[in-house]
Amino acid sequence: MKRVVGGLLGVALAAAAPGARAQGPLPPPSLPYDFTFEATLLPTERLARARLRIGPNQVDRMVFRIDPERHNNVRGDGTVVVEGRNVTWEPPRIGGSLRYDFRIDALRDASAYDARISEQWAIFRGSDLFPAARVLAADGSYSRSRLRLRLPKRWSVAVPYERAADGNFVVENEHRRFDRPTAWMALGRLGVLREKIAGASVAVAGPVHQKLRRQDILALMRWTLPSLRNVLGELPPRLLVVGAGDPMWRGGLSGPASVFVHAERPLITSDGTSPLLHELFHAATGARAIVDGDWVVEGLAELYSVEMLVRSRTISRRRYERVLDRIEARGAGAPLLGRRSEGASTARAVGVLRELDAELRGRTEQQKNLDDVVAELARKRQAVSTAAFRSTAEHVSGLDLGPFFRTQVAPILKTTAPPDG
Ligand SMILES: [Zn+2]
Repeated sequence: MKRVVGGLLGVALAAAAPGARAQGPLPPPSLPYDFTFEATLLPTERLARARLRIGPNQVDRMVFRIDPERHNNVRGDGTVVVEGRNVTWEPPRIGGSLRYDFRIDALRDASAYDARISEQWAIFRGSDLFPAARVLAADGSYSRSRLRLRLPKRWSVAVPYERAADGNFVVENEHRRFDRPTAWMALGRLGVLREKIAGASVAVAGPVHQKLRRQDILALMRWTLPSLRNVLGELPPRLLVVGAGDPMWRGGLSGPASVFVHAERPLITSDGTSPLLHELFHAATGARAIVDGDWVVEGLAELYSVEMLVRSRTISRRRYERVLDRIEARGAGAPLLGRRSEGASTARAVGVLRELDAELRGRTEQQKNLDDVVAELARKRQAVSTAAFRSTAEHVSGLDLGPFFRTQVAPILKTTAPPDG
Protein backbone atom coordinates (compact mmCIF):
# COMPACT_ATOMS: atom_id res chain seq x y z
CA MET A 1 0.00 0.00 0.00
CA LYS A 2 1.23 3.45 -0.88
CA ARG A 3 0.50 6.66 0.82
CA VAL A 4 1.67 10.21 0.95
CA VAL A 5 4.31 10.45 3.66
CA GLY A 6 5.67 13.93 3.08
CA GLY A 7 3.95 17.21 3.67
CA LEU A 8 3.88 20.67 2.21
CA LEU A 9 4.89 23.51 4.42
CA GLY A 10 3.19 26.84 4.89
CA VAL A 11 0.04 27.76 3.05
CA ALA A 12 -0.11 24.52 1.12
CA LEU A 13 0.03 22.51 4.35
CA ALA A 14 -2.84 24.52 5.76
CA ALA A 15 -5.00 23.27 2.93
CA ALA A 16 -3.68 19.72 3.00
CA ALA A 17 -3.53 19.10 6.76
CA PRO A 18 -7.10 17.99 7.50
CA GLY A 19 -7.08 15.46 4.68
CA ALA A 20 -3.67 14.16 5.69
CA ARG A 21 -4.93 13.51 9.24
CA ALA A 22 -7.77 11.38 7.98
CA GLN A 23 -5.31 8.76 6.74
CA GLY A 24 -4.69 7.62 10.30
CA PRO A 25 -1.44 6.78 12.02
CA LEU A 26 1.52 5.85 9.84
CA PRO A 27 3.25 2.51 10.38
CA PRO A 28 6.59 2.69 12.17
CA PRO A 29 9.40 3.92 9.91
CA SER A 30 11.40 0.94 8.74
CA LEU A 31 12.49 1.64 5.16
CA PRO A 32 15.16 4.33 5.22
CA TYR A 33 16.55 5.89 2.09
CA ASP A 34 19.51 8.25 1.97
CA PHE A 35 18.73 11.70 0.69
CA THR A 36 21.37 14.40 0.22
CA PHE A 37 20.55 18.04 -0.41
CA GLU A 38 23.53 19.54 -2.21
CA ALA A 39 24.08 23.14 -3.18
CA THR A 40 27.04 24.72 -4.92
CA LEU A 41 27.14 28.49 -4.41
CA LEU A 42 28.14 30.56 -7.43
CA PRO A 43 28.35 34.23 -6.36
CA THR A 44 29.30 35.55 -9.79
CA GLU A 45 26.15 34.00 -11.26
CA ARG A 46 24.10 34.85 -8.14
CA LEU A 47 22.75 31.34 -7.95
CA ALA A 48 23.07 27.96 -6.32
CA ARG A 49 23.34 24.77 -8.34
CA ALA A 50 21.20 22.28 -6.45
CA ARG A 51 21.39 18.52 -6.61
CA LEU A 52 19.00 16.28 -4.66
CA ARG A 53 20.54 12.84 -4.46
CA ILE A 54 18.52 9.78 -3.45
CA GLY A 55 20.03 6.39 -2.60
CA PRO A 56 18.38 3.00 -3.24
CA ASN A 57 14.75 3.53 -2.32
CA GLN A 58 11.10 2.47 -2.34
CA VAL A 59 9.96 5.92 -3.45
CA ASP A 60 7.54 5.95 -6.38
CA ARG A 61 7.19 9.64 -6.86
CA MET A 62 8.06 13.00 -5.36
CA VAL A 63 6.05 16.07 -6.27
CA PHE A 64 7.95 19.30 -5.54
CA ARG A 65 6.21 22.64 -5.34
CA ILE A 66 8.62 25.05 -7.01
CA ASP A 67 8.75 28.77 -7.66
CA PRO A 68 9.25 28.94 -11.44
CA GLU A 69 10.86 32.38 -11.01
CA ARG A 70 13.62 30.93 -8.86
CA HIS A 71 13.94 27.23 -9.69
CA ASN A 72 15.15 26.81 -13.26
CA ASN A 73 16.58 24.24 -15.55
CA VAL A 74 15.12 21.28 -13.66
CA ARG A 75 16.34 17.90 -14.89
CA GLY A 76 17.38 14.55 -13.45
CA ASP A 77 17.62 10.77 -13.51
CA GLY A 78 14.47 8.70 -13.91
CA THR A 79 11.38 10.62 -15.03
CA VAL A 80 11.09 14.37 -14.47
CA VAL A 81 7.95 16.29 -15.47
CA VAL A 82 7.72 20.05 -14.95
CA GLU A 83 4.18 21.48 -15.03
CA GLY A 84 3.90 25.10 -13.83
CA ARG A 85 4.67 25.03 -10.13
CA ASN A 86 4.84 21.24 -9.87
CA VAL A 87 7.85 19.08 -10.56
CA THR A 88 7.07 15.37 -10.50
CA TRP A 89 10.11 13.18 -10.10
CA GLU A 90 10.07 9.40 -10.33
CA PRO A 91 13.56 8.48 -9.17
CA PRO A 92 15.21 5.23 -10.25
CA ARG A 93 14.92 2.45 -7.62
CA ILE A 94 18.72 2.22 -7.49
CA GLY A 95 18.92 5.94 -6.76
CA GLY A 96 19.84 9.01 -8.76
CA SER A 97 19.59 12.78 -8.62
CA LEU A 98 17.36 15.72 -9.46
CA ARG A 99 19.16 18.91 -10.44
CA TYR A 100 18.20 22.55 -10.89
CA ASP A 101 19.48 26.11 -10.60
CA PHE A 102 18.19 28.31 -7.80
CA ARG A 103 18.18 32.07 -8.16
CA ILE A 104 19.09 33.27 -4.66
CA ASP A 105 18.18 36.98 -4.74
CA ALA A 106 14.56 37.66 -3.78
CA LEU A 107 12.90 41.03 -3.21
CA ARG A 108 10.40 41.24 -0.34
CA ASP A 109 9.22 44.69 -1.40
CA ALA A 110 10.29 47.32 -3.93
CA SER A 111 13.90 47.56 -2.76
CA ALA A 112 14.54 45.21 0.17
CA TYR A 113 15.69 41.60 -0.07
CA ASP A 114 14.78 38.64 2.11
CA ALA A 115 17.32 36.47 0.34
CA ARG A 116 20.55 37.65 -1.21
CA ILE A 117 23.94 36.60 -2.47
CA SER A 118 26.88 38.95 -2.94
CA GLU A 119 30.56 38.41 -3.75
CA GLN A 120 31.22 37.94 -0.04
CA TRP A 121 28.20 36.24 1.49
CA ALA A 122 24.73 34.73 1.03
CA ILE A 123 21.72 34.68 3.36
CA PHE A 124 18.51 32.82 2.51
CA ARG A 125 16.08 30.20 3.77
CA GLY A 126 16.70 26.54 3.11
CA SER A 127 12.96 26.11 2.56
CA ASP A 128 13.24 28.30 -0.57
CA LEU A 129 16.35 26.60 -1.95
CA PHE A 130 14.91 23.12 -1.35
CA PRO A 131 11.17 23.22 -2.06
CA ALA A 132 8.58 21.18 -0.17
CA ALA A 133 7.57 17.83 -1.63
CA ARG A 134 4.82 15.28 -1.32
CA VAL A 135 6.36 11.83 -1.29
CA LEU A 136 4.55 8.76 -2.53
CA ALA A 137 6.44 5.76 -1.17
CA ALA A 138 6.08 2.29 0.29
CA ASP A 139 4.70 2.22 3.83
CA GLY A 140 7.40 2.81 6.41
CA SER A 141 9.67 4.78 4.08
CA TYR A 142 11.57 7.66 5.60
CA SER A 143 14.53 9.80 4.62
CA ARG A 144 17.94 9.95 6.26
CA SER A 145 18.69 13.47 5.11
CA ARG A 146 21.99 15.28 4.79
CA LEU A 147 22.91 18.78 3.68
CA ARG A 148 26.08 19.31 1.70
CA LEU A 149 27.31 22.78 0.79
CA ARG A 150 30.05 23.54 -1.71
CA LEU A 151 31.31 27.06 -1.20
CA PRO A 152 33.87 29.47 -2.63
CA LYS A 153 37.27 29.48 -0.89
CA ARG A 154 37.34 31.04 2.59
CA TRP A 155 33.58 30.97 2.94
CA SER A 156 32.20 29.52 6.15
CA VAL A 157 28.78 28.16 7.12
CA ALA A 158 26.21 29.00 9.80
CA VAL A 159 23.25 26.59 9.85
CA PRO A 160 21.34 25.09 12.82
CA TYR A 161 22.35 21.51 12.00
CA GLU A 162 24.90 19.11 13.43
CA ARG A 163 27.98 18.52 11.31
CA ALA A 164 28.73 14.83 10.73
CA ALA A 165 32.24 13.38 10.52
CA ASP A 166 32.13 13.53 6.70
CA GLY A 167 31.53 17.30 6.75
CA ASN A 168 27.87 17.06 5.76
CA PHE A 169 25.10 18.32 8.02
CA VAL A 170 22.53 16.00 9.58
CA VAL A 171 18.97 17.16 8.91
CA GLU A 172 16.54 15.57 11.30
CA ASN A 173 12.98 16.51 12.10
CA GLU A 174 11.23 13.90 14.19
CA HIS A 175 7.88 15.26 13.07
CA ARG A 176 8.36 14.42 9.40
CA ARG A 177 9.04 11.39 7.22
CA PHE A 178 10.77 13.48 4.57
CA ASP A 179 13.24 15.79 6.27
CA ARG A 180 14.63 18.75 4.41
CA PRO A 181 16.77 21.69 5.52
CA THR A 182 14.29 24.56 5.90
CA ALA A 183 16.15 26.88 8.29
CA TRP A 184 17.84 30.22 7.65
CA MET A 185 21.41 29.87 6.42
CA ALA A 186 24.30 32.31 6.37
CA LEU A 187 27.27 31.48 4.16
CA GLY A 188 30.36 33.46 3.28
CA ARG A 189 32.97 35.62 4.94
CA LEU A 190 31.17 35.58 8.27
CA GLY A 191 31.75 36.66 11.81
CA VAL A 192 30.18 33.99 14.00
CA LEU A 193 29.80 33.79 17.79
CA ARG A 194 28.93 30.43 19.25
CA GLU A 195 27.90 29.62 22.79
CA LYS A 196 25.84 27.16 24.80
CA ILE A 197 22.83 28.89 26.40
CA ALA A 198 20.19 27.11 28.48
CA GLY A 199 21.11 23.80 26.87
CA ALA A 200 20.98 25.08 23.28
CA SER A 201 23.95 25.54 20.96
CA VAL A 202 23.50 29.13 19.88
CA ALA A 203 25.20 30.84 16.95
CA VAL A 204 25.00 34.48 15.88
CA ALA A 205 26.31 35.06 12.37
CA GLY A 206 26.62 37.96 9.98
CA PRO A 207 28.88 39.08 7.15
CA VAL A 208 32.18 40.58 8.33
CA HIS A 209 32.43 44.35 7.81
CA GLN A 210 28.71 44.74 8.49
CA LYS A 211 27.33 46.24 11.63
CA LEU A 212 25.46 43.26 13.04
CA ARG A 213 25.90 43.63 16.80
CA ARG A 214 26.74 40.02 17.46
CA GLN A 215 27.94 40.54 21.03
CA ASP A 216 24.84 42.53 22.00
CA ILE A 217 22.56 39.90 20.46
CA LEU A 218 24.39 37.12 22.27
CA ALA A 219 24.20 39.01 25.56
CA LEU A 220 20.44 39.49 25.26
CA MET A 221 20.05 35.80 24.46
CA ARG A 222 22.14 34.84 27.51
CA TRP A 223 19.85 36.90 29.72
CA THR A 224 16.55 35.84 28.27
CA LEU A 225 16.72 32.32 26.81
CA PRO A 226 16.80 30.62 30.25
CA SER A 227 13.34 32.06 30.94
CA LEU A 228 12.06 30.73 27.61
CA ARG A 229 13.60 27.34 28.44
CA ASN A 230 11.70 27.41 31.74
CA VAL A 231 8.43 27.86 29.85
CA LEU A 232 9.09 25.25 27.16
CA GLY A 233 10.93 22.64 29.25
CA GLU A 234 13.71 22.60 26.70
CA LEU A 235 14.92 24.67 23.80
CA PRO A 236 15.69 23.24 20.36
CA PRO A 237 19.22 21.74 20.41
CA ARG A 238 20.41 24.52 18.08
CA LEU A 239 19.36 28.12 17.55
CA LEU A 240 20.79 30.35 14.85
CA VAL A 241 20.52 34.12 14.46
CA VAL A 242 21.64 35.51 11.10
CA GLY A 243 21.68 39.19 10.27
CA ALA A 244 22.83 41.71 7.71
CA GLY A 245 22.28 45.35 6.83
CA ASP A 246 20.81 47.03 3.75
CA PRO A 247 19.63 46.09 1.21
CA MET A 248 18.23 43.25 3.32
CA TRP A 249 14.67 43.69 4.55
CA ARG A 250 14.44 45.91 7.63
CA GLY A 251 12.68 43.53 9.92
CA GLY A 252 12.83 40.15 11.57
CA LEU A 253 11.80 36.79 10.09
CA SER A 254 11.76 33.35 11.64
CA GLY A 255 12.38 29.84 10.38
CA PRO A 256 12.74 26.52 12.18
CA ALA A 257 15.36 26.98 14.94
CA SER A 258 16.59 30.10 13.17
CA VAL A 259 15.85 33.78 12.68
CA PHE A 260 16.91 36.63 10.45
CA VAL A 261 17.20 40.15 11.87
CA HIS A 262 18.22 43.32 10.10
CA ALA A 263 21.51 44.63 11.51
CA GLU A 264 20.04 48.01 12.38
CA ARG A 265 16.97 46.86 14.25
CA PRO A 266 17.24 47.64 17.99
CA LEU A 267 17.22 44.66 20.36
CA ILE A 268 14.50 46.39 22.37
CA THR A 269 12.44 49.02 20.58
CA SER A 270 11.17 52.28 22.05
CA ASP A 271 7.78 50.65 22.72
CA GLY A 272 9.49 48.11 24.98
CA THR A 273 9.11 45.01 22.81
CA SER A 274 11.91 43.02 21.25
CA PRO A 275 11.82 42.04 17.57
CA LEU A 276 14.66 39.58 18.18
CA LEU A 277 12.88 37.82 21.05
CA HIS A 278 9.60 37.84 19.11
CA GLU A 279 11.29 35.93 16.25
CA LEU A 280 13.20 33.65 18.64
CA PHE A 281 9.91 32.70 20.28
CA HIS A 282 8.55 31.68 16.85
CA ALA A 283 11.76 29.76 16.07
CA ALA A 284 11.93 27.96 19.42
CA THR A 285 8.26 26.96 19.69
CA GLY A 286 7.81 26.04 16.03
CA ALA A 287 4.13 26.99 16.37
CA ARG A 288 2.66 27.88 13.00
CA ALA A 289 -0.80 29.14 12.22
CA ILE A 290 -3.37 27.39 10.08
CA VAL A 291 -6.94 28.41 9.21
CA ASP A 292 -7.71 31.23 11.69
CA GLY A 293 -4.85 30.86 14.18
CA ASP A 294 -2.51 33.71 13.27
CA TRP A 295 -3.73 35.93 16.12
CA VAL A 296 -2.64 33.20 18.56
CA VAL A 297 0.81 32.68 17.03
CA GLU A 298 1.57 36.41 16.66
CA GLY A 299 -0.02 37.41 19.97
CA LEU A 300 1.98 34.79 21.88
CA ALA A 301 5.26 35.85 20.23
CA GLU A 302 4.63 39.50 21.08
CA LEU A 303 3.50 38.80 24.66
CA TYR A 304 6.37 36.41 25.41
CA SER A 305 8.95 38.81 23.97
CA VAL A 306 7.97 41.10 26.86
CA GLU A 307 7.61 38.21 29.33
CA MET A 308 11.17 37.08 28.58
CA LEU A 309 12.41 40.61 29.27
CA VAL A 310 10.73 40.91 32.67
CA ARG A 311 11.33 37.34 33.83
CA SER A 312 15.04 37.73 33.09
CA ARG A 313 14.99 41.08 34.97
CA THR A 314 16.18 42.80 31.80
CA ILE A 315 13.31 45.25 32.40
CA SER A 316 11.59 46.09 35.67
CA ARG A 317 8.14 44.86 36.66
CA ARG A 318 6.90 48.46 36.47
CA ARG A 319 8.17 48.96 32.94
CA TYR A 320 6.66 45.61 31.96
CA GLU A 321 3.23 46.75 33.20
CA ARG A 322 3.58 50.02 31.30
CA VAL A 323 4.64 48.26 28.09
CA LEU A 324 1.69 45.88 28.23
CA ASP A 325 -0.75 48.66 29.13
CA ARG A 326 0.38 50.55 26.05
CA ILE A 327 0.07 47.45 23.86
CA GLU A 328 -3.45 46.87 25.15
CA ALA A 329 -4.39 50.50 24.52
CA ARG A 330 -3.09 50.18 20.96
CA GLY A 331 -5.22 47.07 20.44
CA ALA A 332 -8.42 48.49 21.94
CA GLY A 333 -11.31 48.08 19.52
CA ALA A 334 -9.24 46.22 16.91
CA PRO A 335 -10.44 42.83 15.67
CA LEU A 336 -8.37 39.66 16.04
CA LEU A 337 -7.08 38.61 12.64
CA GLY A 338 -7.16 34.89 11.95
CA ARG A 339 -4.85 35.45 9.02
CA ARG A 340 -1.81 37.70 8.80
CA SER A 341 -2.22 39.27 12.22
CA GLU A 342 -0.14 42.42 12.72
CA GLY A 343 -0.13 45.86 14.31
CA ALA A 344 -3.22 46.74 16.33
CA SER A 345 -4.72 43.28 15.82
CA THR A 346 -1.71 41.56 17.34
CA ALA A 347 -1.85 44.11 20.18
CA ARG A 348 -5.47 43.09 20.73
CA ALA A 349 -4.42 39.45 20.69
CA VAL A 350 -1.90 40.17 23.47
CA GLY A 351 -4.76 41.53 25.59
CA VAL A 352 -6.98 38.51 24.92
CA LEU A 353 -4.14 36.10 25.75
CA ARG A 354 -3.50 37.90 29.05
CA GLU A 355 -7.22 37.54 29.84
CA LEU A 356 -6.95 33.85 29.08
CA ASP A 357 -3.93 33.58 31.39
CA ALA A 358 -5.96 35.22 34.18
CA GLU A 359 -8.88 32.88 33.48
CA LEU A 360 -6.66 29.81 33.71
CA ARG A 361 -4.97 30.99 36.91
CA GLY A 362 -8.23 32.03 38.54
CA ARG A 363 -10.16 28.85 37.79
CA THR A 364 -7.33 26.39 38.65
CA GLU A 365 -6.27 28.08 41.90
CA GLN A 366 -2.99 29.15 40.25
CA GLN A 367 -2.17 25.57 39.25
CA LYS A 368 -2.22 26.27 35.49
CA ASN A 369 -1.50 29.27 33.33
CA LEU A 370 -0.69 30.30 29.77
CA ASP A 371 2.88 28.93 30.06
CA ASP A 372 1.45 25.41 30.28
CA VAL A 373 -0.50 25.95 27.07
CA VAL A 374 2.56 27.32 25.26
CA ALA A 375 4.68 24.38 26.43
CA GLU A 376 2.11 21.92 25.11
CA LEU A 377 1.83 23.70 21.74
CA ALA A 378 5.63 23.62 21.40
CA ARG A 379 5.88 19.99 22.51
CA LYS A 380 3.32 18.82 19.97
CA ARG A 381 4.60 21.12 17.19
CA GLN A 382 0.96 21.37 16.38
CA ALA A 383 -0.46 23.59 13.66
CA VAL A 384 -2.44 26.27 15.49
CA SER A 385 -6.02 27.17 14.62
CA THR A 386 -8.33 28.91 17.09
CA ALA A 387 -10.06 25.57 17.76
CA ALA A 388 -6.76 23.70 18.23
CA PHE A 389 -5.58 26.41 20.62
CA ARG A 390 -8.77 26.18 22.64
CA SER A 391 -8.62 22.41 22.85
CA THR A 392 -4.95 22.51 23.93
CA ALA A 393 -5.81 25.08 26.62
CA GLU A 394 -8.73 22.93 27.79
CA HIS A 395 -6.58 19.79 27.74
CA VAL A 396 -3.80 21.24 29.92
CA SER A 397 -6.16 23.01 32.35
CA GLY A 398 -9.02 20.51 32.51
CA LEU A 399 -11.42 23.46 32.12
CA ASP A 400 -14.32 24.11 29.75
CA LEU A 401 -13.20 27.29 27.99
CA GLY A 402 -16.22 27.45 25.69
CA PRO A 403 -17.70 30.49 27.43
CA PHE A 404 -14.36 32.36 27.31
CA PHE A 405 -13.85 31.73 23.59
CA ARG A 406 -17.49 32.50 22.79
CA THR A 407 -17.46 35.84 24.58
CA GLN A 408 -13.82 37.01 24.31
CA VAL A 409 -12.66 35.60 20.97
CA ALA A 410 -15.47 34.72 18.56
CA PRO A 411 -17.16 38.15 18.43
CA ILE A 412 -13.95 39.95 17.42
CA LEU A 413 -12.30 37.28 15.25
CA LYS A 414 -12.00 38.01 11.52
CA THR A 415 -10.95 34.97 9.56
CA THR A 416 -10.27 36.47 6.15
CA ALA A 417 -6.93 37.99 5.29
CA PRO A 418 -6.72 41.79 5.26
CA PRO A 419 -6.17 43.44 1.86
CA ASP A 420 -2.64 43.01 0.58
CA GLY A 421 -0.10 45.03 2.49
ZN1 LIG B 1 5.68 37.16 14.39
